[in-house]
Amino acid sequence: MNYEIPFHPGSISDSTFLVTGGAGFIGSHIVEYLLAQGVGKVRILDNLATGRMSNIEAFLEDPRAELVEGDIRDAAICAKACEGIDFVSHQAAMGSVPRSIKDPITTNDVNLGGFVNVITAAKNAGVKRIVYASSSSVYGDAPQLPKYEENVGSPLSPYAVSKKGNELYAAVFRVSYDLEIVGLRYFNIFGPRQDPNGPYAAVIPRFLDRLMRGETVFIDGDGEQSRDFTFVENAVQANIRALTMSKPEAFGEVHNIAFGERFTINQLYQSLAEAVGSDKAAEHRDPRAGDVRHSLASIEKASANFGYAPRLSMAEGLKITVDYFKQETAAGRPI
Ligand code: NAD
Repeated sequence: MNYEIPFHPGSISDSTFLVTGGAGFIGSHIVEYLLAQGVGKVRILDNLATGRMSNIEAFLEDPRAELVEGDIRDAAICAKACEGIDFVSHQAAMGSVPRSIKDPITTNDVNLGGFVNVITAAKNAGVKRIVYASSSSVYGDAPQLPKYEENVGSPLSPYAVSKKGNELYAAVFRVSYDLEIVGLRYFNIFGPRQDPNGPYAAVIPRFLDRLMRGETVFIDGDGEQSRDFTFVENAVQANIRALTMSKPEAFGEVHNIAFGERFTINQLYQSLAEAVGSDKAAEHRDPRAGDVRHSLASIEKASANFGYAPRLSMAEGLKITVDYFKQETAAGRPI
């Protein structure tokens, strides 16, 4: 990716960052940005549960990058990983609503227990600021559009409960320990390096992978459900701005991170099919349990609190993503 545009003020050459989940999709982009922007040091804490060495191999050749292979469920590992760190970007979690319905215990242990370990370790190490990944799933059954941060409904999955739990703990750590902690509620982030494999793959890489193999794409339900698809560079921008530019009003708070437009799954399928030159029709199957019907964010709060301004639209992001998939496939690299 091209991370030549800085999203932070001044220089980060004397700063140290910890990216938990840095071998995963979003985390590896944060690592890539930091290295491209001349960071002093970036440490990755990841147990490679869903992340991949191939996401970070090239970055680890840089002496400023370091991998601590470990589990955030282990408080001692979290403490060690936070030593000498200025800024923590917490991305590690077990994603996916269906995975959490199948295995709520692991989702809870990693996403909630692991979260408390990471923020406690960060607090004890005296880091300057923590930014963490929450999710639009927290809106649950709230029907209002666009979604404003304060109007959440009841969670519809164990995953949503775990992310809501992060937000509650973050607010309490702000009050109890005066911690500078900022939450980001991501809305369907997509881009290069998002894993298309396995039953819990996100919709864009899953559709793209099947289309490029000439396989039938299955759409859950009628396909008229909508999402505020957000290119990964915008999520990187949000993390970097929140870490380096947040006003005090942001601390203990959570912010929507989206583009601010919504597309149906049927529209998404059409765009991707056109981009890869397929005229195959998709097949519809039963809707997924725990899924939110429509999703569209107001991004005013992130804009006001740390100047978030998404740079690339869904269409621009899709083009970069499709080109990446084509290039990796042509080079014979497994995606
Ligand atoms: P990902 O699965 O690619 O990345 C998660 C990373 O966390 C992986 O590298 C994984 O190995 C690591 N991890 C998992 N369990 C761990 C553990 N116990 N200890 C250490 N590392 C562990 O997923 P992603 O899409 O990059 O998601 C990053 C964060 O954003 C997650 O917190 C996720 O819940 C959140 N999020 C993502 C989206 C999205 O659209 N991608 C939307 C909402 C929220």
